[in-house]
Amino acid sequence: MSHKLSLSLPPNLENPIVAEQLNTSEEEKIQKNIQVHSFCEHHFVPVIGIAHVAYIPTEYLIGLSKLNRIVHYFAQRPQLQERLTEQIAYSLKQILETEDVAVYIEAKHYCVMLRGAEDIRSTTVTMHLSGKFQQDCYREKFFRAIR
Ligand SMILES: [Zn+2]
Repeated sequence: MSHKLSLSLPPNLENPIVAEQLNTSEEEKIQKNIQVHSFCEHHFVPVIGIAHVAYIPTEYLIGLSKLNRIVHYFAQRPQLQERLTEQIAYSLKQILETEDVAVYIEAKHYCVMLRGAEDIRSTTVTMHLSGKFQQDCYREKFFRAIR
């Protein structure tokens, strides 16, 4: 599935960021409430929301602020929220060489708020859970943390 996504990784993030030797046990790293400012590629109106991103390091650690940079990088172009979610997940897998990645995005689409539906409170949720995050314990830990 990921193969269909052609994407360039964010500048300066192509190479393993910090090849810190991991002595610790596998602990999930979670970055919450990352701002998502994008544009709906259909209507060219703002898409505003937040992303929560998590991974379980195998060999590589990434500076947590880099997770914000990855989200911002893919959000800066007009987007579909589904594709944005997949691109973030895919790039994390590439960079960190792990399948254990979780991405959760909740956003307001101004096209939904202002056009036909006029539903001010409605938000759109997309997520990508792979590797260990498909197991109950990791998934629940992630959702408890981002609540
Ligand atoms: Zn739209």
